[in-house]
Amino acid sequence: MNTDNGGGGGSAGDGDRDPAGGVNRVDTLDIATARAWIHAVALAVTARRDELTELDAAIGDADHGANLQRGFAAVEAVIGGPGYAPETVGQLLTKVGMTLISSVGGASGPLYGSAFRAIGRSLTTPEADGDQLSVALHAGLDAVRALGAAAAGDKTMVDALTPAVAAFDETVTAGGDLRAASRAAADAAEAGARATTPLQARKGRASYLGERSIGHQDPGATSTALIFAALAETLEHHG
Ligand SMILES: [Mg+2]
Repeated sequence: MNTDNGGGGGSAGDGDRDPAGGVNRVDTLDIATARAWIHAVALAVTARRDELTELDAAIGDADHGANLQRGFAAVEAVIGGPGYAPETVGQLLTKVGMTLISSVGGASGPLYGSAFRAIGRSLTTPEADGDQLSVALHAGLDAVRALGAAAAGDKTMVDALTPAVAAFDETVTAGGDLRAASRAAADAAEAGARATTPLQARKGRASYLGERSIGHQDPGATSTALIFAALAETLEHHG
């Protein structure tokens, strides 16, 4: 864990020193840090576009990398502009969701867009603490499940999102800060994504392949893990 105060920029919300462990806690997500997270997602999607495309080529239609890159480029154009000044983290993340829905075709735009929109709508205060984020992440998961009608084990993004939300929740409940919770969520999402490889797809385009979908990691679960990794890395490097 990074214990550097980073010059006290405060972009990762509260940077109070925990008297128990001397660890620099991050207990709220503020707008600047949420923007940095989304920027990190955009960079990661670009860096890993070909990998996501190859995963989707194996069991889908090879557009996942390009779709996400286009979507987050559109998001960056909207939220990075000088005229965009959200008043809450929730407004920012709702805008991310609406932009993804309107700019990305296929299934991933509506699914990721609905998740970010549900997360955003759940967050109504300027900054969000761990409990609020936990509730918001559950709302995001519910939105994805409702839209995709997928359950855990169907070889979809739900297989990464479900354990990530659970790990975030458990870490916050145990008193962990946002760095710890997001790292736990990222690790759980990564493990969940890897665990999709031996599964047979039961939802989405990959399900048409039947048993031939076995042996390939799900692209949506992979990009879900990427999004949580970007949150963890942003919180580790900011503040
Ligand atoms: Mg596709």
